[in-house]
Amino acid sequence: MLDPTVLLARLGGLARGVELQRCGMSRPELAKAVREKRIDRVRPGVFASPALNSHLRRAALHGGALTCGAALRLHGVWVLCDDSPLHVWVGRRGRVNPHVGCQCVTHYFRGTPGLGLVDVETALIHFHRCRGDEAFFAAFESAWKNRLLSSAARMRIRKALPAYARWLVDIGRSDADSGLESLVRLRLHMLGILVECQVLISGVGRVDFIIDGRLILEIDGRRNHDGASHRHKDLARDAAASARGMETLRFDFAQVVYDWSAVQTAIIAALARCREHA
Ligand SMILES: [Zn+2]
Ligand SMILES: [Zn+2]
Repeated sequence: MLDPTVLLARLGGLARGVELQRCGMSRPELAKAVREKRIDRVRPGVFASPALNSHLRRAALHGGALTCGAALRLHGVWVLCDDSPLHVWVGRRGRVNPHVGCQCVTHYFRGTPGLGLVDVETALIHFHRCRGDEAFFAAFESAWKNRLLSSAARMRIRKALPAYARWLVDIGRSDADSGLESLVRLRLHMLGILVECQVLISGVGRVDFIIDGRLILEIDGRRNHDGASHRHKDLARDAAASARGMETLRFDFAQVVYDWSAVQTAIIAALARCREHA
């Protein structure tokens, strides 16, 4: 006999009852598997593996598919914002299923959401509508870097964005080292400051950004800076850069995300110094 646990796992851990019946499960067999706690009934007509990711389960409970930041993160994409509240796509005329503790943000965007996880391409398009240019751009470059977007997919995303935002796809790169780096490059672009990215400087190594060939910017994308050995390497690189007539500025996650105005002021002042002595 067909095992509902195996079947559900094969369908990604989440399926509608009708789908399971189409694969040969009878309603009494499903009911028995639920009673024996081998599968869960998330809501009427929707079943899940007990091991299903809790975000996906909640989105299914709410009545749609998981999209935006939490979906992108599950795909392995760098996302700036927190996972909560979850954003759930129910389609233009979708129905929301009231449930205990619901804090979900419901998206009535057009299209037909399935169950589970929205694909990367669609989640990025939703993410732009929902969170704007910067959040989109960092996630877009991260997805590209992780080889989750073909060139056709990038073009489809471009077309789906509002016309005023399509340039974001045009300036996107596949080699941004972290989402934070994408964010910094975009913000500097908005200030009219053009940077060269991932430049190899002899005696120094690869640096995140260089401006005017003189000012090096290093962005520490890690949320936790780990220890003395990194610090020593950084200091050695800064000394090597200085010996070659270059200045280095380093910024971390908290500065870029929570104190951008200080970062911006520091960069502009350093640029003025470099240009004065050029
Ligand atoms: Zn909900
Ligand atoms: Zn959203």
